[in-house]
Amino acid sequence: MKKIVFCASESLPFIKTGGLADVIGSLPEKLVALGNEVSVFIPLYKKIAHTMHHELKFETEFYFNFKYHDVNVRVLSKEHNGVKFYLIENANYFERDMLYGYHDDGERFAYFQRAILEYLNYINYKADVIHAHDWHCGMIPCLIKEKWSVNPLFSQVKTVFTIHNLAYQGIFSPQMLESCLGLGFYLYENGKLQFDDCISFMKAGIEYADKVTTVSETYAKEITTSHYGERLEAVLNSRIHDLCGIVNGIDTNMWCSKNDDNLVYNFNRLNVHKMKRANKLALQKELGLEEDEKVMLVSIVTRLTWQKGIHLILERLNDIYNEPIQMIILGSGDLYMEQQLSNFVNSVPKTKMVFINGYNESLAHRIYASSDLFLMPSLFEPCGISQLISMRYGTLPLVRETGGLKDTVEAFNEYEKTGNGFSFTHYNSQSMLDALRYAIHIYYANKTDWNLIVKNAMKTDVSWEKSAVKYSLLYDEILKYK
Ligand code: ADP
Repeated sequence: MKKIVFCASESLPFIKTGGLADVIGSLPEKLVALGNEVSVFIPLYKKIAHTMHHELKFETEFYFNFKYHDVNVRVLSKEHNGVKFYLIENANYFERDMLYGYHDDGERFAYFQRAILEYLNYINYKADVIHAHDWHCGMIPCLIKEKWSVNPLFSQVKTVFTIHNLAYQGIFSPQMLESCLGLGFYLYENGKLQFDDCISFMKAGIEYADKVTTVSETYAKEITTSHYGERLEAVLNSRIHDLCGIVNGIDTNMWCSKNDDNLVYNFNRLNVHKMKRANKLALQKELGLEEDEKVMLVSIVTRLTWQKGIHLILERLNDIYNEPIQMIILGSGDLYMEQQLSNFVNSVPKTKMVFINGYNESLAHRIYASSDLFLMPSLFEPCGISQLISMRYGTLPLVRETGGLKDTVEAFNEYEKTGNGFSFTHYNSQSMLDALRYAIHIYYANKTDWNLIVKNAMKTDVSWEKSAVKYSLLYDEILKYK
């Protein structure tokens, strides 16, 4: 039995802003099912404290030296599906409305990472593998090698660093090396952590981890090129023999149309068409769209950011609106995008297109279940979770062929009758519109083919089964290293 420690900035069932929380909330229990012991560390944000405090168990409180002061750490825990979750509490850093986006994010997550290692030391826990996720935890492999390796608890521990999105790097002033991280300034001077005149937490993870993974095979290749490498391609190429892609799965219990409590009507592969129509009517009513079970319902559930191809949608909103479809967009993020979408939907009758500006987990479930097509024209996409959920709910993804979208969605081939969705190659709005029009044509003119693609989509393996085994084998491999 291997002892694995996950460190991440968000996880279900506690908190979620994106796909990272889906992954951290579902992969560990699969690793447990493979015979591993897994604990997960996340910060105790205000929202968790307010909604779940009564479910959390107090573990301990201690102090460590941070920014030349003794700073306290309270650790709470909760067992969930065989996984022990530890929540690091510090009111000064995490008792805030949002998870990220503060001027002192570097300090906050330096504290979080150091508190995890201090706590493992405090409880005398000897992990076999510490698996750090994204920039928020990128300093952990470096802290272990540069600071903790003299401690017998950490001298043998192996580290994995997973890049969920290279675009967010955690770039901060080098001054924090000494004050917040307790490391030497030479790590900036010798170039190891240096990024321009700053340090990069993401670069630290890539440089120091025993293995670096990312969340799809295609993205693993893409990020070694200057086009996708976010100026870290040279470092990634220097680790090419330790870099691999393992595609994400989803929690197939949570995303299960047969017993999803958020849906008006549950369904399975056999009654998907009938029940999708019934769900569609209910959702149209809920959102004020014209109630028409025959119309093709196209949807988007997303963070509104440049990564997601929202520019392509904005460029063609009028064309999309004029197609014989209805459209639902659920999302929040970039203010300009929110405004553009609001302006457009306010200028047309609400019966054909709606924009729900916000984050709504329950509504997202109903949208996935009720729609016919899910649009995801991403500029880049490390893996993507939404297209996996869509397929599981018999909603065909239309994606741009990039990263994990390329690895998980196979475009419909009308000659071979294969495929589980639709795709386009070039990042431009005409290619997206052509692909959308093709999907619309199949939907209305060739129901037999459409139903076949839905069947293929619902049969696609979107579970963690294969990928969890790959992670477990990766841990086995590094544990053989001296
Ligand atoms: P990313 O992590 O880049 O945001 P993913 O496709 O990997 O994109 O994961 C997005 C996850 O967040 C999915 O589970 C999706 O359903 C969810 N999500 C995104 N935006 C919203 C929203 N506005 N309301 C509810 N869920 C959302």
